[in-house]
Formats: sequence, structure tokens, C-alpha cells
Amino acid sequence: MFFRKKKKNNLVIQCTVCEWRPDGGKYWACNCGHVWNTFKSHGKCPKCETQYVKTWCPGCGKSTPHKDWYKTPEEIIAIEDSGDPILRKRKKSLESRLIGYGIKNYRVSHLGYLNYSPDSFQTPYEAGCRMMILYAISHAVHSLEDRPEIIQWLKEEMIWDRVSQSEKAFLEDPNPEEEILMDLSWRIESALTLGWCLNKVETLPKLDAKHNEGVFEELQRNIPEIGDSLMLFLTNLEFRNTEEILEENLVNELATTYFRDLFLNGQKDQTKINRSTSYERHQVLNWLRQFMDIEEWDETDTST
Ligand SMILES: [Zn+2]
Ligand SMILES: [Zn+2]
Repeated sequence: MFFRKKKKNNLVIQCTVCEWRPDGGKYWACNCGHVWNTFKSHGKCPKCETQYVKTWCPGCGKSTPHKDWYKTPEEIIAIEDSGDPILRKRKKSLESRLIGYGIKNYRVSHLGYLNYSPDSFQTPYEAGCRMMILYAISHAVHSLEDRPEIIQWLKEEMIWDRVSQSEKAFLEDPNPEEEILMDLSWRIESALTLGWCLNKVETLPKLDAKHNEGVFEELQRNIPEIGDSLMLFLTNLEFRNTEEILEENLVNELATTYFRDLFLNGQKDQTKINRSTSYERHQVLNWLRQFMDIEEWDETDTST
């Protein structure tokens, strides 16, 4: 008995697909309505005694045989050593950032999700053009009367053809709707995100940061003013480490998934993430990565 108990204590419980580990939470609901921690009863509902052979994972949503969740230390070592070490490192880093924000139950189940090609990124020049356009748009939202000059400037700097159809419509609309102005006012977050990608700001504020005025001042200091000549600036840009850019993209993609799931399940937000900030970062970084091969700004997709 002593030995059996000891052996059992050595076992690690984790999902076979995504490696999520039970945290003591009551995530399992029986057909009888009872909600409990299924690992306290080996998959058996304590109320009606229904035995569940498969167990659903809160980390990845997959159901796998209950007995497969119990791993020996040797099995855990073998799992840790399996797969591409670079992708495994990305998985750990990404998941720990999500946990830090309070998104505790989101795990990456396919390592392939973490694979990417920096070659498919937009060029630093394109990213710089987009950053300046987004910066000008967010300025124009608060100073509508400056729009004719902004149009003139973008044309003179030869980047008017990179302004999207919806952005052109706003810049040329005599009376833009309040809703459009509200929406466009968030583009400063996208401009900031590209500024960070292009090394014009040192660090992006955390998604749940309360005060981040300093970083917008930093961006302003390091990029041309509206009306300035852009050519030299745009041709000297470089990206920061693309690993960091990818991780920021995926953190925000999974945050979008989390908020969508909250909406569908009617559950309470466990984070203090600013959703609008996160959405802007997700979108602009999808554009930067040409996610799903979409090049056009207006068509950038954020469905998950
Ligand atoms: Zn039951
Ligand atoms: Zn899982």
C-alpha cells in the first residue's frame, strides 16, 4: 500500500494534446448538472456516479481517455524532449505571458501554430508607410480641419496609394460619422505597435497597463512629424527581432479568442486587458505578417 501510494504521488496529470495541468478548478459538468474537479474522483461524478471514460481539457477543448492524463516522470521527460525545441520554447513563453494576464486555461495544442516565416512579413518600408498613415489618421480624428493638408502631404510624399479605401473615404468625407471617428481614434495603438516593430519605441506597454502616455511621447520623438519629408526615414527602417513580433501577435490572437469565448459563454473577464488595444495589435500584426496571405489593410482578418 505504501509503495502504491508513493508511485501515485509521482504521477503528473496533464493533457495529452496540449499539456495543460489541472489547477484544482471545477471545470467539469455532469449530465446530472453537478460541477466538480474530475481529477478528485478519477472521472466519476460524485453525485450520480456516472463514470466518464474521456476527459475534456479546459486548455485545448479536446477530450481524451481519462487514464492517459496520468504520466510518469519518465513520460514527462520524454514529452519535454519531443518536438522542435524552438517551437516548444515559443509555446512556454507564449503560455506564460497569457497566464500572467490572467488567461489561465489557454494552451497551444499544435506546435505548428507557432511556426512562421519572417520572409512573409511586409517590408520595413511598407510597415513604415503604414505606421505614418495610421499616425496621420489618428491625428486627423481629433483635428478634422487638417485633413486636406494631410492628403496633400501623403500625395507629395508618394504614399497616398498606400492609404486604404476606407481611410481615403474618411479623409475626404465632409461629415464623418461619430462611430467612424471613435473607431479610427484607436488606430494610434496600431501606429504605436508598428513603431515598436520598427524600433521606434523600446517596449510596448502591457495590455493591462493603466498609464502609458510616456510611450506615445517616445513614438512622437522618434518619427517624423506630419508634414515632414519621409523618404530618408522610410528607407532606413529595420525590424526588431521577429520572434518578439510573432509572440506579440499570438498573445493578442489568443486574447481575441479568449474574449470571443467569454462572449459566447457569458463568463466573467478574469483579466484587466484593454480589449481595444489588444484588438488593434492583433489586427496590425496580422497585416504585418500577411496572415492568410492578405496584403490589403482593409481586408486584414482577425477571426480566430
Ligand atoms: Zn452526475
Ligand atoms: Zn489540452
